[in-house]
Amino acid sequence: MSNPASPLRVLVWDENPGHVPQDIYPEGIRETLAKVLSEKSLNASWGNSLALQTAHLDQPEQGLPDALLAETDVLVWWAHLRHAELSDSRTAAIVEAVETRGLGLVVLHSAHYAKPFLQLLKATGHLKGGWHENGQPEEIRVCAPQHPIAQGISDFTLPEEEMYGAPFDVPAPECLVFQSYFPQAQRFFPSGLAWSVGAGIDPNFASGPGGGQGQGEGQGRIFYFRPGHEAHPTYFHPQVQALLLNAVCWAGHRI
Ligand code: ZN
Repeated sequence: MSNPASPLRVLVWDENPGHVPQDIYPEGIRETLAKVLSEKSLNASWGNSLALQTAHLDQPEQGLPDALLAETDVLVWWAHLRHAELSDSRTAAIVEAVETRGLGLVVLHSAHYAKPFLQLLKATGHLKGGWHENGQPEEIRVCAPQHPIAQGISDFTLPEEEMYGAPFDVPAPECLVFQSYFPQAQRFFPSGLAWSVGAGIDPNFASGPGGGQGQGEGQGRIFYFRPGHEAHPTYFHPQVQALLLNAVCWAGHRI
């Protein structure tokens, strides 16, 4: 985990997607997210600072050389069509960093099929209630207002998003921070999920006095946020931007 006195080092990675509409994201997904997080952090009153970098799948070592991972506190991940191209070597390096040294992982939208996410959660990530790309309203409710990721966030509606339907084939989260409802499809989906994994978890612990680490809580923090289909300007929504900044800070153990 990072030194709290130094900037939180955030790497925004994407698959270098060729299918993201230019009129929605003229700078692409990763650069948009990096800019948003940087600008938001400068305006925030919480006193932390972020050091943002971006990387992508088509770079050497798929944008994830060991030296860069070693200097990263939080990895933000957006991918859609190219999950299978991520090498076993890079997948293993990320999994190890999350599990053994508490690298934070913020997983966005279609990255529910990202290899590191699935390996860390030992899940399939399937959307067993299906999906639909017809662009419909998504109502997002704050379920855990006390959670650090929900600070300053109130219920909001995205006017157009891709619909995902539950059940979502992942383990039960430690906290369901946000829940979505799609009124057009009349479907629900858990849209903001927080887990911890890795070092600190006692594999033999079942239940007992709630003590967190040393029992069932690990130091690697993972947050999944459902919205972010490339055909809609979701990452320009102020509530989404605010909660993503919170998510990065939470995954990096700063809040
Ligand atoms: Zn999508």
